[in-house]
Amino acid sequence: MDDSKLSAAALRHPEKRNRPDNPSPRKPKWIRVKAPTSQAYGDVVKMMRSKQMHTVCEEAACPNIGECWQRRHAAFMILGDTCTRACAFCNVKTGRPGLVDPTEPAHVAESVVQMGAKHIVVTSVDRDDLDDGGAMQFVKVIEAVRAASPETTIEVLTPDFRDKAGALEAVVAAKPDVFNHNLETVPRLYPSIRPGARYFQSLSILRDAKRIDPTIFTKSGLMVGLGETKSEILQVMDDLRVADVDFLTIGQYLQPTLKHAAVAEYVTPEQFEDYKTIALAKGFLVVAASPMTRSSYHADRDFEALRAARIEKLGRAAG
Ligand code: SF4
Repeated sequence: MDDSKLSAAALRHPEKRNRPDNPSPRKPKWIRVKAPTSQAYGDVVKMMRSKQMHTVCEEAACPNIGECWQRRHAAFMILGDTCTRACAFCNVKTGRPGLVDPTEPAHVAESVVQMGAKHIVVTSVDRDDLDDGGAMQFVKVIEAVRAASPETTIEVLTPDFRDKAGALEAVVAAKPDVFNHNLETVPRLYPSIRPGARYFQSLSILRDAKRIDPTIFTKSGLMVGLGETKSEILQVMDDLRVADVDFLTIGQYLQPTLKHAAVAEYVTPEQFEDYKTIALAKGFLVVAASPMTRSSYHADRDFEALRAARIEKLGRAAG
C-alpha cells in the first residue's frame, strides 16, 4: 500500500493502525469494478455534496457505485460519518461521533426528491453513544421522506440497537416498507469480525420487527469469503427463516484496507448460485446472491420482486 493510502487508512481507523498488514489473495476475474463515468453519476455526486449527505456507497468504497448512482439509487447514511464500533470488515470511520444534525431529515428528503428516487435505503453508523441508538433520527427521516415524496418506498438498514429499549419499536412504528438488519457473518466469526455485536441479538431484532408488524418486509445480508463454511451459512439461513425473514442477500467480502480482515476465499459465481437455490428452497421470498451483491444493491428492483412474491404466496395459500 502506498503512503497516502496508509495514512488515509490510519485516519479513518486509528484503532487498526498498529495491526499487522493482512494481505488478501489476488482478486479473480469475476470481481469486476467499473470506473464510474456517466453524467448521471456526476449529477448525483454534485447533489450529495451540495446537501452534505453521507452515503454507504462512498463511505464503504462500494464497488457498485458507478452502476447504482447512474440508476439514481443510493444508500443514505444518517447520524454522521463516524461509527462507535470498529468492525473488522467495515471501511466506515471509527471514533467519537458529533451531535445529531436536526436538519438531516429535511436534507435526505430534498435529496430523494432531487434524485427522483423510487426506492431508497436509509442506514446509519452505530451510535452506541445515544440513548436511543439513533432510532428517532430514523423515524424523522422516514417521516420527512414520506411527506416530500409519498411514492418513494423506504428501506431502513439499522444497527442492532443493542441495549436501547424501545428503539426497534419506534422505527417499526414509523412503517418503513422494508426493515433490514445485516447479520453479516456466521456466529463463530462474530468475535473477530463483528466484535461489538452479538449474533442472537441481531437475529432477535429481525424476529421482533416481524412480530411487531407482520406486514413489514424483513431482510438480512451476509458476506462470504471470511472463512465460514457452507454448513455454517446453511445454519444461518435456517435461523433467518425461523425469524421469518423474507429477503436474503449474500455477497463476496472485499477487504477495504490491509488493516482489515483478509479475504479467506473468493467464492465462485457457481457457489453463489448454489446458495441462492438452497435459500429459495428454504422459503425466502427473494434471494440475491452473487459476488458483487451488497445489501442495498438493486434494492429498488428487488423490492418490486418482494411485493410480487408475497402476493403470489398469499394467492397460493388462499387458493
Ligand atoms: S450497492 Fe448499495 S452501497 Fe453499493 S453503490 Fe449500490 S446502493 Fe450504494
